[in-house]
Amino acid sequence: MRILVTGGAGFVASHLCERLLSEGHDVTALDNLVTGDRRNLGPLRAHGDRFTFVEADLIAGIPADLPAFDRIYHLASPASPIDYVELPFQTLYVGSDGTRHGLERAQADGARFLLASTSEVYGDPAVHPQVESYWGNVNPIGPRSVYDEAKRYAEALTVAFARYKGVQTRIVRIFNTYGPRMRANDGRVMPTFINQALDGQPLTVFGDGLQTRSFCYVTDLVDGIIRLMESDLTEPCNLGNPHEMTMLDLADHINRFTDNPAGVVHRPLPKDDPTRRQPDISRARAELGWEPQVSFADGVERTVAWFRDRALQG
Ligand code: UDP
Repeated sequence: MRILVTGGAGFVASHLCERLLSEGHDVTALDNLVTGDRRNLGPLRAHGDRFTFVEADLIAGIPADLPAFDRIYHLASPASPIDYVELPFQTLYVGSDGTRHGLERAQADGARFLLASTSEVYGDPAVHPQVESYWGNVNPIGPRSVYDEAKRYAEALTVAFARYKGVQTRIVRIFNTYGPRMRANDGRVMPTFINQALDGQPLTVFGDGLQTRSFCYVTDLVDGIIRLMESDLTEPCNLGNPHEMTMLDLADHINRFTDNPAGVVHRPLPKDDPTRRQPDISRARAELGWEPQVSFADGVERTVAWFRDRALQG
């Protein structure tokens, strides 16, 4: 198939491109490189002319001269809390205009379209674990709203294109994901803790550290995304690893794994930081036959190894 991946130079999307290329598809990655990284394209270029990189801003549109696609995976967006607070308008516009451009292109090409949505649509959830039928608890004017509401709008737009224009759509709600190719300075807890530990620094735990997250290794997530795209499931589908832990437990694991004696320091909790998050993945299990395969210990080991190598490369 001919496949377009928006945000293809980013963390999750570059792994997705790699997997699709290894399955024999032709892949075009579109990215404006505001949070994507050109270095993530290296392994993709190894696939020769089956891979194309287009440097363009999806907010302005998808270049008209690209050939017709069979599948469009829409992953372009700043995705870490500090990124979307630093890039509020790009976050809002790629979720709104960018999603519209992807959907219009899907309609024109007869392509199937997958929206990368987020567990942030559940906000600071009052239902635990989060199931797709829960409508969420989002502050529409808080600092995270530029992301949360853009993604909620993107879901509404995607459903409208399916309902009123007959476009084939899929919606994945992605929970916390980690692995190689995260940016060391993207502010998310996993790369931050790992790089602090490798530097022998104390890990910066926000608040009391009792808030929880559930971390999924990136190759598991990518496997679920492709299964969803190729399934008949048009309802939103959570993908994430239900293995839930506090940020103090995460810090402890990383300090022990890296032999970092520096411990933790506490910093103020950012506004509207969700107190807990854990996916209910019953739908993905039943409809996609999907289940995370990589254990937390293995995933952390692979991610630490990658950041160590990257630090050596300078
Ligand atoms: N966090 C932390 N220290 C850091 C960065 C993040 O304790 O240096 C916490 C943050 O407050 C949140 C959790 O880790 O409760 C996950 O934050 P992240 O930015 O990775 O993603 P989120 O799930 O909030 O989108």
